[in-house]
Amino acid sequence: MISKPSARAYVTFWGTRGSIPTPGNSTEKYGGNTPCVHIQHEDTDIILDAGTGIRNLGLELMQQKRKMDLHLLLSHTHWDHIQGLPFFVPAYSKETNIYIYGSPQKESFLEGILQRQMDVNYFPVDMNALQAKLIIKEIEFEALTIDAATVQWQEQVCHPGGSVRYRIEINGKKIVYATDVELDKLFSPSADSSDDNKKLKDEYNDFIKDADLLIADAQYTQEEYIAKQNWGHSSIETVLKVAHKQGVKQLALFHHDPQRSDTMIDKLWKKHSPHYALHDRPMNTFWAREGMTLAI
Ligand SMILES: [Zn+2]
Ligand SMILES: [Zn+2]
Repeated sequence: MISKPSARAYVTFWGTRGSIPTPGNSTEKYGGNTPCVHIQHEDTDIILDAGTGIRNLGLELMQQKRKMDLHLLLSHTHWDHIQGLPFFVPAYSKETNIYIYGSPQKESFLEGILQRQMDVNYFPVDMNALQAKLIIKEIEFEALTIDAATVQWQEQVCHPGGSVRYRIEINGKKIVYATDVELDKLFSPSADSSDDNKKLKDEYNDFIKDADLLIADAQYTQEEYIAKQNWGHSSIETVLKVAHKQGVKQLALFHHDPQRSDTMIDKLWKKHSPHYALHDRPMNTFWAREGMTLAI
């Protein structure tokens, strides 16, 4: 349920799973849909990624029967982050304007990538059938202004093909969305200490500093990560340490591995959260769950 708009921003998780949807009774608590997060502040709708979770968000938005200006910020165009877009019902409504933002550094233009996803070989409906006004923009400027929100962004190189992280400043609060990034390449004790790496570390630290909410890729445990190096995802232990050091107030661990069952997540939660909750500089740490709404 999307709460009634007020001066607070409401952050709802519609998809929290990484890589591929994982329906089934072992994942029903934390959810099986791939990444999609909705931030609502008064009449402003900002959507982070268009994984399969965006389908349910679309159904919910349509129930509100209002003219919509939707701002969709894409981290990148790996399937798990765009696959829900052809099933996003507001895109078929003339009453909707959808502004889609993504990295300017792709070899082919973002619009072409999204169009090809709806090629007849992959999907039965052509992109031209979408009745909404689609405005596809590669981000040019340092910051975007969306109504009362300021959106900062940065390229993340530690992911195959790259990805973009976003920081949404709204209502005096900072919400950071930084998924699909291999932080262990920069922050693990064995990471190389080149100047380039140091610069990337500083950029990441500055970007998340004092965030009221950080939504962060934490696909693997440290143990699993050993066999998954260079796959572009972070270990839980590294994310926890880095986020806490930078004074993050709430950390949502995100992009759950497809193999991660609800029981396994519950165990990880019990193992890691108390340490940070009881710290003299507490950080509220939780695993993002589909359907969860936070008021920020
Ligand atoms: Zn992903
Ligand atoms: Zn990816």
